[in-house]
Amino acid sequence: MSSDLRRLFDDFVSIFFPKECGCCGCVLKYQERCICVECDFHLPYTNFHEYSDNDTARQLWGKVPIEEACSFLLLQKDSRVEHLIYQIKYNKQPFLAEYFGYQYGLKLLEAEKYTTLDLIVPVPLHAGKLRKRGYNQSSYFGRGIARAMHIPLREDLLIRNKSTSSQTGKGRLERYENVSDIFACNPVMIPYGTHILLVDDVLTTGATISSAALALLESFDCRVSIATLARA
Ligand SMILES: [Zn+2]
Repeated sequence: MSSDLRRLFDDFVSIFFPKECGCCGCVLKYQERCICVECDFHLPYTNFHEYSDNDTARQLWGKVPIEEACSFLLLQKDSRVEHLIYQIKYNKQPFLAEYFGYQYGLKLLEAEKYTTLDLIVPVPLHAGKLRKRGYNQSSYFGRGIARAMHIPLREDLLIRNKSTSSQTGKGRLERYENVSDIFACNPVMIPYGTHILLVDDVLTTGATISSAALALLESFDCRVSIATLARA
């Protein structure tokens, strides 16, 4: 199809199936993919991947011995990022997580600290929750990163034994007790010294992802870094 014809066809399709921006809900224009140009310009990108001492890493200090940690976006109340996370988690649009994963993967390729990564591992959902939602948004995020960085994604390493009940309204200590030993690892083989990038959608207290990282570090001779789509 010639490019003019293609464009005509795309315009025609978009009249009947308008695609919306994942961050603000406006109708996307021709050549805009997943988010509109304005949102892309105004999104609060953290650039945490550029330096080791960042807010996401600090949140995990003293909880788990990781190499590096970063988050792509800042999550604030009533913001574009909050809209995006809602679309990804509750409105069946996990491809938005993959889109942002791919964009983040391209950024991580430019950061020297992340050039030694060997594997991407998403934080798993509990089987019951996975059935209910139909997909794991963290897997989509990881898939995007893996594709951009040409690194394999492994979903057979970590197992989630139990679902965490809602974290809201719980004290700090209770949250930690709530997430301790919720993860286990499968008896699979990975090469000595493998550098794993553990990925999740949102980092809040860091309790869940720390617990997953500890399970990996206890089961494998590996190093672990962490990347999340957003930092609350
Ligand atoms: Zn937008």
